[in-house]
Amino acid sequence: MTGISHDILVIGGGLAGLRTAIEASKSGQSVAIISKVHPLRSHSVAAQGGINVAIKSDDKWEDHAFDTVKGSDYLADQDAVAIMCREAPDDIFELDRMGVLFSRTPDGEIAQRPFGGQGSARTCYAADRTGHALLHTLWEQVNKRGIKTYIEWFVTSLVVENGRCQGVVVLDWSTGQLHLLRAKAVVLATGGYGRVFKRTTNALINTGDGMALAYRAGVPLKDMEFVQFHPTTIYGSNVLLTEGILITEGARGEGGHLLNNLGERFMAKYAPAKMELAPRDIVARSIATEIIEGRGFEGGYIKLDLRHIGDPMIKAKLPQIRQICIEFLGIDPSVEGIPIQPGHHYSMGGIDTNADGTTTLPGLFTAGECACVSVHGANRLGGNSLLDTIVFGRRTGRKVSDYVGHCAPAEPSDDTLRLMEEKIDRLLSRRLGIKPSDVRTASAVAMSDHFGVFREQRQMEEGIKKVREQRERFADVAVGDTSRKFNSALLSVLELEMCLDLAQAIAESALARQESRGAHCRLDFKDRDDQNWLKHTLAINDNGKLRLEYKSVDISMFEPKARVY
Ligand SMILES: Cc1cc2nc3c(=O)[nH]c(=O)nc-3n(C[C@H](O)[C@H](O)[C@H](O)COP(=O)(O)OP(=O)(O)OC[C@H]3O[C@@H](n4cnc5c(N)ncnc54)[C@H](O)[C@@H]3O)c2cc1C
Repeated sequence: MTGISHDILVIGGGLAGLRTAIEASKSGQSVAIISKVHPLRSHSVAAQGGINVAIKSDDKWEDHAFDTVKGSDYLADQDAVAIMCREAPDDIFELDRMGVLFSRTPDGEIAQRPFGGQGSARTCYAADRTGHALLHTLWEQVNKRGIKTYIEWFVTSLVVENGRCQGVVVLDWSTGQLHLLRAKAVVLATGGYGRVFKRTTNALINTGDGMALAYRAGVPLKDMEFVQFHPTTIYGSNVLLTEGILITEGARGEGGHLLNNLGERFMAKYAPAKMELAPRDIVARSIATEIIEGRGFEGGYIKLDLRHIGDPMIKAKLPQIRQICIEFLGIDPSVEGIPIQPGHHYSMGGIDTNADGTTTLPGLFTAGECACVSVHGANRLGGNSLLDTIVFGRRTGRKVSDYVGHCAPAEPSDDTLRLMEEKIDRLLSRRLGIKPSDVRTASAVAMSDHFGVFREQRQMEEGIKKVREQRERFADVAVGDTSRKFNSALLSVLELEMCLDLAQAIAESALARQESRGAHCRLDFKDRDDQNWLKHTLAINDNGKLRLEYKSVDISMFEPKARVY
């Protein structure tokens, strides 16, 4: 056992983790970041379109809050939304001062583009590489402050003793050695779970680890049934190469049209006022409907048409989209429409928390996509997730340093470490068994087929059965590589186990919610039902069995209304 100890351990080197660590380090406490990949390879780096804030003279934070709440189909907690939208301007100007290279207007102001479901053009951007610009700047700040980072260290478990989180067990990928890291507090900032689904815009590393770790420790997962399907992901049959690559909402923000096989801008039927810039749940459903009703192109896709925007504008504002189209599809978007279809993109649900990142487990905090504050409710607006990582990362950093300022040192036993050592020995010693990739594919296909854009009771029950079968098969997987050093096969088995836990939480939460709200669209319960379902779902691990509970939603600012665009 090694003797590593810090006051605060932040798990995750994406935007939420880095922003939390920067803030926490201001207190002078010992803060360290652990990341399973180099922080600059976190999924945040792939964010394209931008980050929302009301900073123009004719735009108010209250308008931003209203659009967010309406977009969420009234499931977001309005007190938390108010905090996010009110505090956003200071955070964006701080990022600007840190050196984020935001795109500018001719007058030198931070430029803003229109995004879906919003009444004002309030999405700040750095061309279509916003996440890249933000993450590199925060990484510079982390280095400037000398914050310790453990890179390519994989957190396998939380150490919970005496009712308090006191550290983590980590697998050092390069050596295969397990370590116990002690800490007075742990912050989970591990991002989304895209790989639970087959077609996703998410990176291969997005396996929802933090959510699964919290769930195993008895912390509730909130609103897991709300899964965002992005309207425009590249159509393709080759899962590894092209399928699911994101084409940013910024492409529609810059004026892109959606066309069916009759050449119609079909959004006129579904959201006449907002057209292509309706919120994502509505656009994704409209595209899926066009395809199901036979107005898609052969194979099942529709086209995103940027031709009228023109080559110079595409090169200036959407250079990465152009590059993706040329390199992965062999087409120039100024000449040809881009074949797209909806695909998994984002998790509105996550670890149950509040606007300060605390959880039900003392010593455990959370921020970013793995957390559910909730500011996105049943459907997140584009550009609000990057904002969530920054505002709530900062707030969590402050709260966690207050907490460790007056809590006793962590003195956990090495029980959790020993249990993990035994588990890994067991996994590596099994020579023959089921291929993990078979389980992963079968479970991901089941989730995409049975818990997609449209849902219905029987179809979901079948999906739950399939996921359960894969969870049973997991007990017999063989890693295939018995070495200790750089054993990526072992890591992917540990990640698969996380995905399987989350698949069950998503599926059971979805089956239980008998209404349609935001991204959860049921063909057998077509309407929103505020009478019975204006409440958050909590999925709780009760000694290995999943139990559902519900909790109220804050509606202190805007009265729920029908959602028309
Ligand atoms: C392609 C794409 C484009 C997007 N574009 C936008 C956009 O324009 N605007 C917007 O608002 N949102 C956008 N989003 C969403 C947004 O980017 C993410 O929600 C956000 O960046 C998540 O940040 P995060 O810090 O929570 O997690 P991530 O950036 O995913 O970071 C997670 C971190 O956790 C670490 N980690 C995970 N598990 C472990 C473990 N077991 N042990 C150790 N470390 C671990 C990883 O190494 C990583 O460092 C986009 C998402 C995608 C996929």
